[in-house]
Parts: sequence; C-alpha cells; structure tokens
Amino acid sequence: ATPTAIMVGTGQGARAGMLVKNAEALELAERIDVLAVDKTGTLTEGEPAVTDVVAAEGWTRGQVLAVAAALEQSSAHPIAKAVVMAAKEDDEARGVAFAPAEAVRAIGGKGLVGRVRGVQGGTEDGGEREIVLGSPAFVAEHGAVVPDATLGELAAAGRTLVALACDGRFAGLIGVADRVRADSAAAVARLQAKGLRVVMLTGDHPATAAAIARQTGISDWRAGVLPGDKAAAVQALAAGGARVGMAGDGINDAPALAAADVSFAIGVGADVAVEAADITLVRNSLHGVADAIDLSRATLSKIR
Ligand code: ADP
Ligand code: MG
Repeated sequence: ATPTAIMVGTGQGARAGMLVKNAEALELAERIDVLAVDKTGTLTEGEPAVTDVVAAEGWTRGQVLAVAAALEQSSAHPIAKAVVMAAKEDDEARGVAFAPAEAVRAIGGKGLVGRVRGVQGGTEDGGEREIVLGSPAFVAEHGAVVPDATLGELAAAGRTLVALACDGRFAGLIGVADRVRADSAAAVARLQAKGLRVVMLTGDHPATAAAIARQTGISDWRAGVLPGDKAAAVQALAAGGARVGMAGDGINDAPALAAADVSFAIGVGADVAVEAADITLVRNSLHGVADAIDLSRATLSKIR
C-alpha cells in the first residue's frame, strides 16, 4: 500500500475509534486467518461480581468472604475488586474481625497466597494461618481439594471459580460472574462470516470456559492457560503458516499480543495491553476487530 493510502486509512480509523500504531498492521489485518481472543474483559465486560459463596464445614459464608477480601485487598485483579466489594456489602462478613493479611503474594493467572492471624473458621484458636486463594487448580497445588459437586454446578453456570484454602484445607468457594458483552456473539459471528477461525484463550476453569464459549458461538477454546503460556498458545495457532491476530485487554495479555501478527487492545483499560498492541480499539467491543479488518480491506482496495 502507498503511504498516502495508509495515512488516509489510519485517519479514518482514528475517527471510528481505531487507533493504528503500526501502519503495517493495517495492511495485515485483512489477511488474518485465526483470531485468538481473551475471555475476561474482551468477550466479557471484565467487571465481575460475586454471585455465590459456599462455606466448607466449620466455616461461615461471612468468614469465607472476609478472609478472601483480606488477601484481595492488595490485588488489582478484577476478581479482587469484586470480592472486596462483596465483603463490604455483606453484614456477616463485616462482623468478622481479624488482623490484616500479611506477606501476600500474587501468582499470575493462579491467585494469591498470604498469612492471616485471628481467623476462627475451621478451628477454635486464632493463631496464624496460611491462606491460599485462587483457581481450584491452584489451591489443589497446595493440597486442598475442592469438592466436585460444589465446583461443577457453579462452573456450568459460567461462573469463574475462586477457592479458599486455610492451612492446606478447603474452606470455601466463591462464584464470580462476569457478564458476556451484549454484542460479543454478534461480533464473533461477523468475524466467522469473514472466514476467520475464532479461538478463545483463558486462564479460567475448563467448565467456565465452555459455558462462555457456548454463549458467544465459539467452538474452539483453550482453558487453564497461564499468562506466561498465552504467547506460546498464540504461536501454536500460527503452525502451518496461518496468520494470527490476538485481541485482549488485560495486563496478562501483553506477551500474547506481542506474539501475534496483528494485535488488538480492546478498551483503554490496561496501559500495558495498549502499549503492546498494534491497533487499539477505543470502543469496548469485539466489533472493533471486524471494523478494523473492513478498514484494512477498504484501504488496500483503493490502491490495488
Ligand atoms: P483470564 O485468562 O480469564 O483473564 P486470569 O489468567 O487472570 O484469567 O486468571 C485465571 C484464574 O486464576 C481465575 O479464573 C481465578 O480463578 C484465578 N485468579 C487469578 N488471580 C486471582 C485473584 N487475584 N484472586 C482470585 N483468583 C484469582
Ligand atoms: Mg484477562
């Protein structure tokens, strides 16, 4: 494409909410074969809310929420905001008193580990406890098993699952719902109609991933993908010479965005994603990717 055509295309894009950082990306967009999409914040609104709290024997729902919130206080993850908010709004959780969490560490795509003193759940003495909070697979790594029955029902409903373990024992499960964006299914259908293979990548539980995929018309997805493995998953999609696009929003997605031939940052939430992406879509919608492909086609046809 001539520099002039690209400049005109870039200007048109900017007016329509597509900020093209890399001119080559505008040329490549129409040639994408596979589009990898992140789940949280891309297909979904990325503003999760707590919908369910299940307490293990010896625990109350209020204790589960309060201890979870104590750890989440230090996390910037969207799940953390939801848990802290739910604990604040819950009368029972507000009545649970204990010292602030200490030595809290975040493990990307998995959850948090920390120590809490004064917790009554599961025991009578209020000594120091090791708390693990995060995906069921993560707490299982620490020896705590989430009962299948509890897990299955919430995951089938599309809930993201956050398990709580105390000293290696299962203490409770929190279900978090993140609404699928109203226009995600239509945007996926539009992309598929262009001949693109749409693949969802998520760190979430497989049953949760399956539920969100079903709601958005995506038949191809990978669950339990850790942030560090998302880039490799994008590279794997390029096997056989396919051109791969990646659409994501989160901080977690920056390496995957960088690994794609053409990358799209949805919304202006995470600066890191915006920095890593070729094209930033100001509107919080996957339609922006289809719009960018249309713009790419229009820009190139002018000079052919
Ligand atoms: P996604 O790929 O959908 O954006 P992430 O990679 O951020 O999700 O997280 C994957 C899973 O790890 C979540 O579904 C959740 O179970 C767990 N997790 C990660 N961070 C946290 C946190 N701060 N609090 C609770 N759970 C977390
Ligand atoms: Mg994400």
